[in-house]
Parts: sequence; structure tokens; C-alpha cells
Amino acid sequence: MDHAAPPPDAHVTEITPTAPVAAASHGGRAKCLQRLVRLEMPLPRTVALSFATVHGIAAGRMPDIGALVAGFDPGALLCVRPSSGDPDWGGPGAILNIGMTDARCRALAPRIGAEAARALYLRFVESYALHVARLDPDSFEGRDAGQPDALKAALAAYEDEAEEPFPQDPVVQLSEVLRSMARAWEGTTARILRQARGAPADAGLGLVVQEMALGVGPGECGSGVLQLVDPETGLPQITGRYLSQSQGREALERGLPSLYLGRDPRGPSLEELAPQAFADLKRHAARMRERLREEMQIEFTIEDGRVHILDGIRVPRSARAGLRIAVRLAEDGVISRQEAVMRIEPRAISELLHRQVAPGAPRDVIGRGVAASPGAASGRIVFTAADAQASAARDEPCILVRRETTPEDIRGMHAASAVLTERGGMTSHAAVIGRGLGLPCVVGASRIRFHFERRQIACADGRLLREGDTITVDGTTGEILAGSPAMVEAALDDAFTTLMDWADAHRDIAIRTNADTPADALTARNFAAEGIGLCRTEHMFFEADRLTPMREMIFADSPEDRQEALALLLPMQRGDFVELFRIMEGMPVCIRLFDPPLHKFLPSDRAGLRDLAEALDMAVSDVTRRVESMGEYNPMLGLRGVRLGITVPEIYDMQARAIFEATLDASRDGAPVVPEIMLPLVSARREVEIVRARIDAVAAAVRAERGRDFTYRLGVMVETPRACLRAGDIAQHVHFLSFGTNDLTQMTYGLSRDDAGRFMQAYVAEGVFREDPFHVLDHEGVGELVKIGADRARHARPGITLSICGEHGGNPDSIAFCRAAGMDYVSCSPFRVPVARLAAAQLAIRDALQN
Ligand code: PEP
Ligand code: MG
Repeated sequence: MDHAAPPPDAHVTEITPTAPVAAASHGGRAKCLQRLVRLEMPLPRTVALSFATVHGIAAGRMPDIGALVAGFDPGALLCVRPSSGDPDWGGPGAILNIGMTDARCRALAPRIGAEAARALYLRFVESYALHVARLDPDSFEGRDAGQPDALKAALAAYEDEAEEPFPQDPVVQLSEVLRSMARAWEGTTARILRQARGAPADAGLGLVVQEMALGVGPGECGSGVLQLVDPETGLPQITGRYLSQSQGREALERGLPSLYLGRDPRGPSLEELAPQAFADLKRHAARMRERLREEMQIEFTIEDGRVHILDGIRVPRSARAGLRIAVRLAEDGVISRQEAVMRIEPRAISELLHRQVAPGAPRDVIGRGVAASPGAASGRIVFTAADAQASAARDEPCILVRRETTPEDIRGMHAASAVLTERGGMTSHAAVIGRGLGLPCVVGASRIRFHFERRQIACADGRLLREGDTITVDGTTGEILAGSPAMVEAALDDAFTTLMDWADAHRDIAIRTNADTPADALTARNFAAEGIGLCRTEHMFFEADRLTPMREMIFADSPEDRQEALALLLPMQRGDFVELFRIMEGMPVCIRLFDPPLHKFLPSDRAGLRDLAEALDMAVSDVTRRVESMGEYNPMLGLRGVRLGITVPEIYDMQARAIFEATLDASRDGAPVVPEIMLPLVSARREVEIVRARIDAVAAAVRAERGRDFTYRLGVMVETPRACLRAGDIAQHVHFLSFGTNDLTQMTYGLSRDDAGRFMQAYVAEGVFREDPFHVLDHEGVGELVKIGADRARHARPGITLSICGEHGGNPDSIAFCRAAGMDYVSCSPFRVPVARLAAAQLAIRDALQN
């Protein structure tokens, strides 16, 4: 190797310890290689081409390649590798063995053997033909290097297709390789692809040209990769692969996997073949870990027992391994705890909490929708909640497929492994409940055609799936897959707990949970939620034993009859609240009073109407008429929320009593409870005044009956635009305001949260919305209303507690908004609590670092 003469051309930079190479101008690989050079790793000579140079090459401005080639050893073969800002953005693959010609092949034969030389030449001709000359793949793929005429045939095929002989000038070869890689990067498809992976529009490509250390010749030779951790678990374990020249020929020809580094029954390990090289590699990897502050994968060759390091990349890793690697690096003092917290994407945490389709598993995608609740599950298709329950009773996993779910489907959802709906968006019923239960869910799968009457679904590619067929719902990606691919289990291990503890040390906004049931509350406590920010009480009325008194209450002709039905519900509600208070052990519990339109509790099909007629001892026709008369044209803007509290006040009276009695019961033998009562869908101050007077009266009655005192906090859910604007007025009557950004988004945009899924993908793809506003809070519109509301409330009542309890509470970008708006806490579904804890900690750390 000739290190003496740097290429005279100014556009190319030899990577030396002091060369002006930066990730921002030359890409991550070039910078990393320079770090390896500084660590005095045995690296072959390497030259970096900057983003500007490569851009120039694509535009036809080729630097002096003759000079570049002249800087390398005259007998050397070269390789070119991409060096972009982020390896995840993709880019052209590496091209090896550049410089291989008829003459070089002959010259190499005495040193490495004629067969090995021909094999190298053949591989180069093939990759040049495919990736540089872009010839027909059928003519160049799959030739057996062991066949004596394989090289000749490939060269003839090249000449035939390209209508010129294979280039024999290394300068021409390298120029063409560089040109093809530069152009591939600038192509439209590549640009769209990398932008989809988060690359900026003007992301540049650098290239590195490296002399090849072939790993062929006398003595122990070969090539491989090595790392010090298991890429799936992140646990310390030397893994990788090594293809020895002496052992590898056979393995390669038979298409067997290459030899493993560890002891492998199929052949000797690297440790046995080249003990010194193995020890050197381990030493190099450990040094890289310490100095580059990262677990690195080394790409290496061995020549006559001597190690050459070609490249070092961050070990590719699963979400689970990423977390353990960060924790171990911090525990070993390589990075700080704070840095470990910053290294984990909150999204990765969500992956850890659920089963996922195994990363490499084949995916037979039959449809797509909104990824409404993460995790994946496989099961047989069922079309009704009752069938889901029957399936669960048989211990048979099932996927509940519905047009959209309603509260009546909740038990079926509990029984199903996952849910798929034709309609809906991020905050539709199936999505909210799915996230609450940790149940994978895809909604708004509009490209699949659902034939509910025939119990079939028709996929876009024409396939027809029937009830009983197995599908997989991947709620992380929004894909629906045929069959049941391999899965990886959720991984809540000690590394997860450790990292979350470190995160909490930095966090400055509280995280509560949305929990309706004791099971939700327990899950959220396991994830260290600091209270319940939203308990949607209506979900408690769908239990089988409650639905009938609920319906009797709805059908009651007089307040007295209504009271009677409610009296049956009171002890059940009280029991619910006692259990929640006990689980939360004195942490705040915010209970939202009844919200949905009453007719949601009434049956919609014939069988249900008949059952109800039987229960109420009425004629089916009478029941049907009554149900129809309660229908509304636009129920979500109709008689619901606090409007029910004012027009049918007995329901809120019963709920307030249940809350106060439960407060006293739970406080008697447990931590003292100060319940929070929240009124939904408020739009006017007077609504609060009226309901507050009744709740105060119930509180006074319970105090008098029980002879014991308690306090409670009253709050309003701000989910209408008018409530934001009148927040100053409303705040004077309450202790807290919680922004219900699901309804607030729906009402601000005039966009149905249950129907938006149908066109949301098109809207985001067209750039009408930057993101689904039900998923990521719209800072500009909805956010402005939230800010106005928060400011006016604080102005009218300094010290008022402010929070958010819409689904946005679990979204990192939305959490950033809430934190900046000075909210006291965010509340999100239980499985998003850890995501929110990490995201909030990262915001605080980022702020601290900037100040
Ligand atoms: C909301 O509207 O933001 C909310 C949390 O309430 P729900 O989703 O129950 O309407
Ligand atoms: Mg709401």
C-alpha cells in the first residue's frame, strides 16, 4: 500500500487522522472510518468523496479519477461504499473488486490461485453488469463460480448485451461505478423512498473508495463480520459469521450459510482457525465500543492470519436489543444515563410492550388501514362479538372484523386477539378501546371490501377470505397479513425498568392514564402512571348485569321509575369506584360522568330488540318505536355529555353518590381519597353552575347520612371550541380543566372522528394534513384553541390544574406541545404510559442541554 501520495484532486480526501472529513459533508460512514483510523485500526487505504463531489458526478462533473486510482497500489482492487447522513435512508449497495480485468486476473492467479481470481472477476462482472451497465438480470444472476467457463460466459453475455466488451481500464470502471451510484441516489424513486424514511429533501450521498483486502491467498484467509452483542437481545455474546477461504469454497458453492464465529458443528470456528486474529478482532471491537461509545459491528478480512478492518457500523438491532445496549453502555460508564435515555426512540418502547411480527418474517400483505393500536396478533376471522366470545371459550385465537365497533362489542373485543374495522380513525371506538386493552387494532381498512352479510372479505388483489380463515392484524404498521407469520414476544425486562427509572429522574410533567376498568388501572400502575386522568364511566354499564337496568332507566317514563332503575346501578358503580380507588392507593382518580348519547345503549338488531322487549315485558313493536324515537340525526353533537346531566339529572346524581360513598369506603381502610369529578362536553358556564349545585347537594347528603367529611375536586373537560374560548368563565367554577382533544379536534375541523379513516391516508399523502390530526395534535388550529383556553383559564384562576386526556396524551409531539403550554399532566392509555414517560423525559433533557 502506498500511503505517501495523496490524490492531488481537491474533490477527494484521503481519510487520515487529521483530514477534513465530517459527517455533515461526507456522510456517517466516512466519518466513522476516520475514527477507526484515529484509533489506529488496521484499515486499508480509503478515500472519501463529499456530498458536493458526488452531486457533481451525477451532474456530469467527474473529478480526476486517474489521479484517484493512481493514489492506490497499482495491483490493488478497489471497492466503493455509500456514505449518507443515515444508513436507514438506504442508497446504492457497495460494489467490490473494481479494477478486475483480464490482465489483473492473470496477475493475481499465482498469489491467490487461478480459480479464486476467476471467482472474484466473475462477481465483479456480474455486479457491474447489473448495477452499473444495468443489463438484464436474467443473463447475469446465479452463475456457478466453480464452473470452468462461467467467467467466459459472463464476459460474452456482457459483450452481447452491452454491445461492447467489458471495460478493461480500471479508471473507466471506477468512473462508471461512481457515476451510477451518484445517479441512483438522485433518482426520483430513491428520493421518495428515503424521504419516507425521514431523510430531508436535500439529503446528500458521500462515497468512500477503499483498497480491498481480499481475504484470499496463502495461509488462513477469509472474510466476515463480528460484534460483541446478540442483535436480538442486546446481551453480551460474540456473534457474526466468518467464511474461511479454506472451508468456504464448499460452503459457498453449496449455498450453505457461512461459518459461524462460535463453535459450530458444521466446521471449525474462527477461534480455532485463527486464534490470534480472533483475539485481535475482539480487542478491536471492545476498543470501538469504548471509544466510539457504541456497540459496533466490524466487517473484516483475514489474510494469512492477519486482520484487516474494512468497515465498522453500528450493530443493527431489535428495539429490545437497542434498549439493553444503551443501558449496558451507561452501566459500564461508556455513556451517561442521560445519554442512554436520549438514545431510545419512544416509538421503540411501544414495540417492546407488545408482540410484534418478527422483523425478518415474510409478510403477505392483503390490506392496509390506520395503525390504531400497536402490536400484532393472528387468529381466525370472526364477524360478531358473540362469535369472538365463542372462539375464546374454545381457546381459539380470533380476529374480530366489524364495520365499526360500538360499546356493545366490548366483550367481543376482550375475547379477540385483535380487531379490524372497515371504518374509523385514530380516535374511533375500536381504536380507543384497542389501545386501552393493549389489543392490536387496524381501523379504516378502506381498500379491503367487507361483505358482512356473506361473512367474507375481498382483498384488493382479488383474494377472498372467509370466516374461519387465519389473518394477522399488525397494529404497529397498519397492515393486514394473510396467515400467521412468526412473532416476537413483548420484552419487559430489567433493562426496560432501569431505563424508565432513569427517564423519570429528568421528567417535569406528570403522566396519568386513561383507565376505565380495574384491569386498565393495574396495567397502568405497573407502568408507573401517576394517577387516572380519565375514567370513562359509560364503559362500566355494558357489563351483562348492568345493561338491562341501564335500558330500563333509559325507557323509564317518570323520574321515579328512573330512580328505581338507577338504584340497581348505584351499588355496582360504587363497587367499581372503590376498586379503582384501592388500586390507585391515594393517587388522583379523575372520573368523567356519563358522556355518550343514551341510545348507544339500546339494541340495533332484531334479536336485541326482542330480548329487550322480553326484559321490559313490552311488545317488540313498542320497543322498536321507542328506540327509533330516541335516534338523532347527529348524535355526537346531540343529547350527550353535560347536556344529559342537565336534562336527565338523575344519572349524574347517582354517579356522584356512588363516587362519594366509594370515597368514604375506600378511605376507611386505605389511603385517603380526594376524587376528581369531570363534566364532559361543556360549552357554557351555566352548565357547570347547574350541575355543580346538584353535585354539591349530593355531597352534602352523603356527608350527613354517613356522618363523615370528605372533599372532592370538580373539573370540566374542554372539548368544544366554545369551552376553549369561554375557559376564563368556566375556570371560576372548577378546580381543573382537562382538554379532550379527540372531540376538540373533531369539532375544530368539523371532521368526524369515526369516519375520517376513509380519506385520512389520501389527505396526508396529498399534504393537506401534515399528520392525522387525531393522532398528532394539530398545533396550529386545535393547538391554538388549547392555548387560548389554557391562558384564559390561568388568568381567571391562577393555579388551576390543566391537562390533556385526548389520545394525543400518548404522542411524543403532542406531549411536547402540552409541556410547552404549561400543562400539569398528560393522560394516555395504559400501554402508552411508558412511551409518554420517556418522551417527556427527553423533552426535559433537551431543554436542559440547550439552556
Ligand atoms: C376526548 O374527546 O378527547 C376524550 C378524551 O373523550 P372521548 O374520547 O371519550 O370522547
Ligand atoms: Mg370526548
